[in-house]
Amino acid sequence: MKSCDIIIIGGGPAGTSAALFLEKKGYHITLLDQARFPRDKICGEFISPAADSIFAELGILESIEALNPKRLSGVALSAYESSFLKVPYPLSPDGKTMTSLSMERSILDNLMVDHVRKSRVELVEGFKVTDLLFEDNNVCGVRGHDEYKTRLNIKAKLVIDAGGRNSISLRRLNLKKNSFGRGKVALAAHWKGFKADSHYCYMHVSHPGYTGIAPVGSDKVNVVLVVDKTNLVKQNVDEFFIKIVLGNRMRRKFLADGFPIEKVRVTDSLSYSVKKPKCGGLLLVGDATGFIDPFTGEGIYLSLRSSQLATGVIKNAFDRSDFSNRNLATYDFLRRKEFQKKIILSKVLQRLIYSSFCCDRVIRMLATQKELSSLLIGVIGDYIPAERVVCYDYFRCFLSGLIKQQIGSLKSKEGLLNRLNFLVSSERKK
Ligand SMILES: Cc1cc2nc3c(=O)[nH]c(=O)nc-3n(C[C@H](O)[C@H](O)[C@H](O)COP(=O)(O)OP(=O)(O)OC[C@H]3O[C@@H](n4cnc5c(N)ncnc54)[C@H](O)[C@@H]3O)c2cc1C
Repeated sequence: MKSCDIIIIGGGPAGTSAALFLEKKGYHITLLDQARFPRDKICGEFISPAADSIFAELGILESIEALNPKRLSGVALSAYESSFLKVPYPLSPDGKTMTSLSMERSILDNLMVDHVRKSRVELVEGFKVTDLLFEDNNVCGVRGHDEYKTRLNIKAKLVIDAGGRNSISLRRLNLKKNSFGRGKVALAAHWKGFKADSHYCYMHVSHPGYTGIAPVGSDKVNVVLVVDKTNLVKQNVDEFFIKIVLGNRMRRKFLADGFPIEKVRVTDSLSYSVKKPKCGGLLLVGDATGFIDPFTGEGIYLSLRSSQLATGVIKNAFDRSDFSNRNLATYDFLRRKEFQKKIILSKVLQRLIYSSFCCDRVIRMLATQKELSSLLIGVIGDYIPAERVVCYDYFRCFLSGLIKQQIGSLKSKEGLLNRLNFLVSSERKK
């Protein structure tokens, strides 16, 4: 039986960043992925500005920049074809201009895997983990097979599950809970021929769902449509996708002269949260720790950050030779503490977007309240702490903005009525 210090399941952003962080500490690591890279992954391909500093710490920002990737300077939002808002990223708390990377996942993930390939980490592609191995109720390795179905057990002091939303731990230990909302699916395709300011990511909310459009090249955008699963029943997926995407007046303006350059891909997009594993020897990172609706698009950052947070806790576990559930629990505590408010915000926004009345009013209000919209975009971009928005002060300003806007619109309606009255009475006098 093979053995090593740490087994990492999954070579997505969570697994590769964990491998690269931990390799620097000198552990003997094996990273297993059932896929061979480059592999595809359906995603908005829009990466929070805060990810840059983690990429830099991992030593991969330079190779990302060498590809001359698209960098976006803000986010544009529209609600129900009525209101529109374009918000540039505010400066970072230390005064830096912020931009976000927008990059095809097949390229980004492959680049990260390439760095793992060049490191001392043992990378095994085409290896599917089929079960966890246990000793005294603690995880002590994995069981799996390669592409030729050759079975292998690998032992380790610690297993990091970075297997994403269908990771083996979630299934084997029954850890998934609280799926939010109705069943959602995401449909995605890259398009050519986009006519708009290509330095923004566009979120369009309308019936029957929302889209995220992120420019990923000079003439290429990634279009992701999220709808209820029921919308797809008896539909031709490609026809449905084009019909809904171009059915929105605002999207049509950007995309009508363009066309999808690939078959539409579909994936499950339901949010869920995850229970803490009760056993030792196991840590979860990335989507294996839970998944927020992609509307606020931060999954990649959360994956990188969860691995960064795990690194300190893992080093401590090795220093003490203590891989018990109790010792590893610090990681869960740190992660929940850091992400809790952001998750609350994402859930609130998720509820908001599905109410056309509220969503339209909020977008109209934010369009006139630059400070509130900038703060919100900074928090969504993960470089302004969520506490700045999930707090009483922000809520108070938000509410007063909505009230002012409502009064303003009543006044303008009143003004319009007065003007009509005047015109009617002057006509009568004639
Ligand atoms: C529709 C949609 C749009 C999104 N848009 C954005 C966005 O714009 N920006 C953003 O930041 N995030 C976005 N996300 C979220 C983002 O894609 C995820 O948060 C991110 O991919 C999580 O990374 P990960 O490494 O945890 O998992 P993954 O990227 O899913 O990687 C998991 C890896 O584990 C491997 N694996 C799984 N099980 C096994 C096994 N048993 N044995 C061996 N290998 C295994 C898989 O092959 C895979 O390579 C979006 C998600 C969806 C669904």
